[in-house]
Amino acid sequence: MFIISMISCEKCGNKDPRSLYQAYGHQICKQCLRFSGAVYAEDVRGFGYEESQTRIDVSLTVFQQDIADRICKAIMKSSVFLEAVCGAGKTEMLLPFLKQCFAGNQKVGWAIPRRQVVLELAQRLQRYFPAMKIVAVCEGFTQDLEGDLVLCTTHQLYRYRHQFDYLIIDEVDAFPFSNNPVLQAISEFCYRKQVIYMSATLDEGLRDKVNRSGFKHLYCPIRPTLELMHEPKEYRLFCWVNFILMLNYVRKRDHRVLVFVPTIESATRLSKWLRWPMITSQSTDKQERIDAFRADPRAVLISTTILERGVTFENVSVLVFKADHQVFNEASLIQIAGRIRRGMQSTKGEALFYTSSKQPAVIGCLTILSMANRSASIALAKFRQQ
Ligand SMILES: [Zn+2]
Repeated sequence: MFIISMISCEKCGNKDPRSLYQAYGHQICKQCLRFSGAVYAEDVRGFGYEESQTRIDVSLTVFQQDIADRICKAIMKSSVFLEAVCGAGKTEMLLPFLKQCFAGNQKVGWAIPRRQVVLELAQRLQRYFPAMKIVAVCEGFTQDLEGDLVLCTTHQLYRYRHQFDYLIIDEVDAFPFSNNPVLQAISEFCYRKQVIYMSATLDEGLRDKVNRSGFKHLYCPIRPTLELMHEPKEYRLFCWVNFILMLNYVRKRDHRVLVFVPTIESATRLSKWLRWPMITSQSTDKQERIDAFRADPRAVLISTTILERGVTFENVSVLVFKADHQVFNEASLIQIAGRIRRGMQSTKGEALFYTSSKQPAVIGCLTILSMANRSASIALAKFRQQ
């Protein structure tokens, strides 16, 4: 008893009659069916906020504070795109905005591509705001859906129809959000006022959308250490020469090394051959492997692009073997290079790209990072003159 319906889907806005049905009084949308579940969040709010109860133990640099102030102001009128180099401390820049929302009893959603980052960030923000209810919603954590601030994976956004005043989408150009029009449409239905997109990498599609939709574009090229980004070195040589160079580098270094390879097959082959541990999307014990890498200051780990974002290790170098492979686009190379020298304590680490051919993605990555450093130098020089 299926009737073809002419109205649009309430969850994703789909208007295509070929994928919309009415069945037994319910609307069924084939486009977003897999994002439907039994439990939806109810709009509960108001746990009460007091400034005196915040426990924020990080201080913002003048550059972070400037961006933070501009977010608080801009968000009153328009959505915001926050472009900041990897390791610039985007989370910290949002703290004043969160305070402003809590004080005004505004509900915030924060969508993040990776489950592990949802859990870690929820813990960290709960420490900063012990009086507020901050809830993590992701696979394995879907019992409690309600809080003043909801951190969730993008796949969980379907539960929050028109519920957030503001929605933050972290790593907006990352999988699975970037190439999934259904998730993007669902996200549009989640918030009532404005959205904040964040990333270090702005692809063409995103640039278009941000311009078309009148987002306020804020840019921060400076990390909290006030040091310039370390620009990657490219070795464009025969593959076997690169391989020997890479082995030599790994043998001589005195800190951690992440070796990025393009495919799971190449990771498996290299790992068997060199007896180095590896991590791929198929590893069932990802967190254990990351923890083991973090625990050993001289560890080496082979990785596919799975670790290109959302992870921070102290004193780590990143080597990209076959960086000219099509798997590595401009954004992923920028993100990989952004893994080094993060945080205030991390002082060692280089990014080395091993290639055998000239690739626009590699050249684009090097150009963008050098432009970011130029902007940073200008801003730092102005600051030091003051
Ligand atoms: Zn739908």
